[in-house]
Amino acid sequence: MSQSPAKPVLSVLIPVYNEEENLPALGEEVHAAVKDLGMTAEVILTDDGSTDGSYEQIVALTRRYPEFKAVRLGRNAGQTAALSAGIKYAGGELIACLDADLQNDPRDLAKLIGKLQEGYDVVSGWRKDRKDAWLNRRLPSQIANSLISWITGVHLHDYGCTLKLYRARYLKPLRLYGEMHRFVPAFAGFLGARIAELPVNHRPRTKGTSKYGISRTFKVILDLLTVKFMDAYMGKPIYLFGGGGIVMGLLGVLMAAATLYKKFFLGIYVKDQPLFQVSIFFLLVGFQLILLGLLAEILIRVYFDIKDKPSYFVRETAGFDPKLAEVRG
Ligand code: UDP
Ligand code: MG
Repeated sequence: MSQSPAKPVLSVLIPVYNEEENLPALGEEVHAAVKDLGMTAEVILTDDGSTDGSYEQIVALTRRYPEFKAVRLGRNAGQTAALSAGIKYAGGELIACLDADLQNDPRDLAKLIGKLQEGYDVVSGWRKDRKDAWLNRRLPSQIANSLISWITGVHLHDYGCTLKLYRARYLKPLRLYGEMHRFVPAFAGFLGARIAELPVNHRPRTKGTSKYGISRTFKVILDLLTVKFMDAYMGKPIYLFGGGGIVMGLLGVLMAAATLYKKFFLGIYVKDQPLFQVSIFFLLVGFQLILLGLLAEILIRVYFDIKDKPSYFVRETAGFDPKLAEVRG
C-alpha cells in the first residue's frame, strides 16, 4: 500500500463502468506494461458510478500495485466525465487513456510513447483491424470519423479509439461534456498540437457488455456541431448570429423597397404583393438573430467566468497523497 514516491512522468487514465470481470486481468496487464516502460507512472482508475463490484476491485488493485489510484464519481456521469475527472487528478506530464474492457492493448503504450518522442504532442491510436460488429459499430464509426475529420480539419482515421497519448498541457485546460472525449485530438489540434496516428492492436470484448448502442452516433454528430461552433465562434458568437441577422435584414429591406417601388411607380397595391409579407418575415427574423447574438455574447462572458466548474462530483479517492488529493479535489 505504499505511495508511489516520485512525481509520475506518465498518468494512465482508465474509465470504469461495471467492468468487475475485466478488472483483475486489466490490472495485471497494465501493471506489467507500465513496468516495462521504465518511467515513473501512475494508473488512475475512475469508477464512473458502477453498480457492480467494480469499485471494490479497483481499491483492491490500488492495494496490490503501488502505482494504481482510484477516483470514484458520485454517479454514472459517462465516459467523457470519467476521463475529465482522471485528467484533473493526473500528475504526469504525459497522459494516456485506455479502456477498462481489455479491448485496447496496454503493451501499445510503449509504441505510442516512442512516437510522441519523435516530436508530437498527441499520438492517437488507430484500430486498423477493429474487432467490433460492422453494421452497428464500425459503419457508424466510419461515417462519424469522416465527418469529424472533414468538419474539424484534424485528419484522423479513428477518433473513437480511447487509446491515445497526450502531453498533459493540452488536456488540462479542456472542459469536456457529452460524448466529447473523442474530439480531444481536434481540440488539441485547435491549440496547435502536433498530432500523429499509429495503428494499435484491438481485441474483442470477452467479458462484460458494451455500454453503448447506435444512439451514440447521433450524440456524436450533435456534439460535432457544438465543437465546430466552439472552434469558429466561441469568442465571438455575434459574428455568426449577427452576420445571419444582417443578411436577412438587408434582404428584408430590399424586398420591402421592391414592394414600395411597385406600389408608387407601377400602381400595384401592397395587398396584391405577397413579397411584402416575406419582407416583414425577413426583417423580423434578422432582428431576432441579432438579438440572439447579443444574448450569446452575454452567455459567453458568463461561461468564461465560471469555466472552472467541473461536470462531475468525486465521492472519494484512494491511493493519492492526502494533501494532493485535497488540492486537486
Ligand atoms: N465507460 C464509462 N462510463 C460509461 C460508459 C462506459 O466509464 O458511462 C467506460 C467503460 O467501462 C469502458 C470504456 O468506457 O472502459 C469504453 O466503453 P465500452 O467498451 O462499452 O465502449 P465500446 O468499446 O463498446 O465503444
Ligand atoms: Mg470496449
